[in-house]
Amino acid sequence: MIKEFKKSIGYICPFCSTIVTKDVNLFDFSGQNASPFLCSKDDCRALSVSITPKKDKYSITVNCPICGEPHIFNIKKVTFWKSDFFVLHCPETGFGILFIGSSERIRSEINRQEELIAEFESEDVTIGDELSNIFDTVEHINELSKKDAIYCSCGSRNIAIEIDNDGITLSCKDCGKSKCVKTDMESLQTLLNASTIVLD
Ligand SMILES: [Zn+2]
Ligand SMILES: [Zn+2]
Ligand SMILES: [Zn+2]
Repeated sequence: MIKEFKKSIGYICPFCSTIVTKDVNLFDFSGQNASPFLCSKDDCRALSVSITPKKDKYSITVNCPICGEPHIFNIKKVTFWKSDFFVLHCPETGFGILFIGSSERIRSEINRQEELIAEFESEDVTIGDELSNIFDTVEHINELSKKDAIYCSCGSRNIAIEIDNDGITLSCKDCGKSKCVKTDMESLQTLLNASTIVLD
């Protein structure tokens, strides 16, 4: 039995990236007219999804926010209303582009998806490598600092650790001497082999 004739649909507007969710019910898709879905953002209002009833199917057109092409799906009416939750995927990239189900579930799925898209779009792998170097460097400095293995030539172990774009700066809170640890691969190797860091 089909219990619910109410659903939400959700998608990412390809023009302004707003997450749009709309409540729909069976009566929204009657006759043979296409139901257009406009972006909910006032200054956008772009049309990116339309659902047209056919005999026992809906023809759903989605302007894809990932690859930019329109994709057409034919979904059985019974599938549309019976499923608790389902997702239509971009055939080019495999990402979900139209989410149908409860609005809470849609929101959480779209958020999860956006993280995946962000990863997918950051083709600049070097940023990832650089970050992992920074993480490793910070880890190692932390370990050394726990072992009291970071100290200043003035005898102080009162060392402040700061991270900025150039690297990690260690400075003595007593005499003000400082040392910059770079986060490139080579400096990281040197650091990982070091059992102490001395500010001199
Ligand atoms: Zn929009
Ligand atoms: Zn696509
Ligand atoms: Zn010092």
